[in-house]
Amino acid sequence: MKRFTVFCLALGCITGLYAQTKEIDPAYSKFEQLGTALPTPNNYRSASGAPGPQYWQQRADYDIKAELDDNNRRITGAETITYYNNSPDELGYLWLQLDQNLFDKESNTLKTQTGTLNNSVSFNAMSFVTRSQFDGGFKITAVKDKSGNKLTHIINKTMMRVNLPQPLRPGQKFIFSVEWNYNINDMQKIRGRSGYEFFPADGNCTYTIAQWFPRMAVYDDVWGWQHKQFLGQGEFALTFGNYKVALTVPDDHIVGATGNLMNEKQVLTSTQIQRLKEAETAKNPVVIVNQQEAIEAEKKKSTGKKTWIFQAENVRDFAWCSSRRYIWDAKLCDVEGAKVWAMSYYPKEGNPLWGQYSTRAVEHTLKSYSKRTVAYPYPKAISVHWIGNGGGMEYPMICFNGGRPEADGTYSAQTKYGMIGVIIHEVGHNFFPMIVNSDERQWSWMDEGLNSFCQYLAEQEWERGYPSWNGEPYQIVSYMRSSKETLVPIMTNSEQVLQFGPNAYDKPATALNILRETVIGRELFDIAFKEYATRWAFKHPHPADFFRSMEDATGVDLDWFWRGWFYGIDPVEVSLEDVNYYKINSQNPDVEKPLAKADADSKPKTISQQRNAEEIKKTLVDDNPELNDFYNSYNPYQITPEDKAQFDSYYKNLTPEEKKLIESGLHFYTLKLKNNGGLISPVIVKMEFEDGTEKIETYPAEIWRLNSKEISKVIFTDKPVKQFTLDPYLQTADIDTENNYFPRKPEASRFQLFKQQGNRPKNPMQQAQKASGQQK
Ligand SMILES: [Zn+2]
Repeated sequence: MKRFTVFCLALGCITGLYAQTKEIDPAYSKFEQLGTALPTPNNYRSASGAPGPQYWQQRADYDIKAELDDNNRRITGAETITYYNNSPDELGYLWLQLDQNLFDKESNTLKTQTGTLNNSVSFNAMSFVTRSQFDGGFKITAVKDKSGNKLTHIINKTMMRVNLPQPLRPGQKFIFSVEWNYNINDMQKIRGRSGYEFFPADGNCTYTIAQWFPRMAVYDDVWGWQHKQFLGQGEFALTFGNYKVALTVPDDHIVGATGNLMNEKQVLTSTQIQRLKEAETAKNPVVIVNQQEAIEAEKKKSTGKKTWIFQAENVRDFAWCSSRRYIWDAKLCDVEGAKVWAMSYYPKEGNPLWGQYSTRAVEHTLKSYSKRTVAYPYPKAISVHWIGNGGGMEYPMICFNGGRPEADGTYSAQTKYGMIGVIIHEVGHNFFPMIVNSDERQWSWMDEGLNSFCQYLAEQEWERGYPSWNGEPYQIVSYMRSSKETLVPIMTNSEQVLQFGPNAYDKPATALNILRETVIGRELFDIAFKEYATRWAFKHPHPADFFRSMEDATGVDLDWFWRGWFYGIDPVEVSLEDVNYYKINSQNPDVEKPLAKADADSKPKTISQQRNAEEIKKTLVDDNPELNDFYNSYNPYQITPEDKAQFDSYYKNLTPEEKKLIESGLHFYTLKLKNNGGLISPVIVKMEFEDGTEKIETYPAEIWRLNSKEISKVIFTDKPVKQFTLDPYLQTADIDTENNYFPRKPEASRFQLFKQQGNRPKNPMQQAQKASGQQK
């Protein structure tokens, strides 16, 4: 503890105590506005982050007829596209996406794939061999205008340019048709975002079909045509429109798809229709096709055909699933006052997990997300079980999800929570990017990050203590600690993102959680997040629209936050370097002199002083008293009349407030904080007092605005502090918490002594069943 005197100067008495007067911090720009990093606002996109008064977007309506050839695992289709040019520009040609060309032997995905070999290589890693032997990709057999005249077109890998006979002027529409076919990929051999899974036991497939027709590329005010090649990692940029789709499949197949089924009576049995009727009012999901019926169909393998007709309005894509192996369950739910079908399609291999959880997870997701964004606007939401290595893939109203129990029906906790988590995630994608239609080809985080953030919130509402795989700041620490060569900013194009999962999903989700819990606060954050979703529902937002909307709706300057978390790679690492303890020196000799004496007396005697006291029996002065003078008897701690007079004249001139401060007994601490990580963060300090009570102070990130590397902060308390702790509740993703304590605390970790590696049970459910003899 040190004592300081309080004095008065005409100028600058506060500066000495509170301000930082270090050299200019080269990192001061951390608090500058994003400026030119964001595009200049215009009439299409406002400075507030809202769509501007002249905002426009294109539209594409599709009328598709397609047939699934189950024997050859091939799709043949024909589509008529009506393209509406709502832009202010004249278009001389149109661009379509040919995503199946990812599987073409000449695909740039294969050509640009890098890798190396070593002594042991997994079959998975060798899939490029299988892939280069697969006859994949679209065979485009016709491109015609509405009168049947051929349209010239050029295929550039995964994009196709269709030349227009006359330029398409603003406000005009163009009707044309495309015919195609392609071989469907085997999901087990050649991974992909769609395909089939073959079940050797009964010789049937399940088909999860997407990116299956030539789709219009997006033309917008930011990029013009978004026709960046599809290499696999960057997903899709798609235009809204209405769909009418007729799918011809084997007549014992059950089909799930985007949109409303328009010919129920032709494709469903009366029993199935009856069960759907029951599901309209049932409390729990009702099985429309049960497991026994699916098993019967697997055996019979009917050879007839049926055509299922679907219609969807204002969707950006269309996907479907088809199989005779599907069990189907459904429940009509109330979502913000609207009736919405939650449905699941799964082969028997998904049970018992799928029957118990899938449709419930769909319903839960719709309700949780609708509350935070916009009310779910579509008539249904489907979860389909696929192999997909536990992962999933999303489309409007339908998604494909992994999570399969063991053959004996047992499963690990990881399989269960992973499956529910992936369903919440993929159904959640209905909101980002299916409704809030961002450009996935450019920015993975705009859908994956925002969706993962909402997923975390929905999971915590599903079950207390749900083991979410991201969301909490401490979960991003290991990523933020990784070496700089393996890190890129969140604001990186989808194809160039390193550490894709942590970068595109976990880091933005964590950043939003930190904004919500620590920077903005829950109430204001939730209002702003909903505002962004509402502004951009059924539109095409870009990053600036999100950044600006969040600031606009909260009144919080977040440029430093976007700059650090989205444009930078630095981690949060704040250290509590030192704490100094002070009390006010009252200048009253009656108080200060005894304290000064006690202080001096408490100083340790050095080893020489201790030994000299023993060894030197008599000093020279001891033997020669004539050498003594004033100072040999002077006691600096003695209170003299001069001391008292001096104090009296000082005290007499103090104002009542100044007297009160001097006599307050307050405890002062200077906290020296160092920002070792570089990422700006609010500072949260917990003080544990000597009397056992505690207090938390949160200092906004602007505490670093004059010096982003090293600051000191003066705190006063009316009780002495025993322990200071930074970020006690793990709010900031600080990558080193050992230096967060003053006094320092050793962080104990436990190490295990072992003779040989033990195997932890991966599936305790299976072990328990074996132990109790229930094993099938
Ligand atoms: Zn996702």
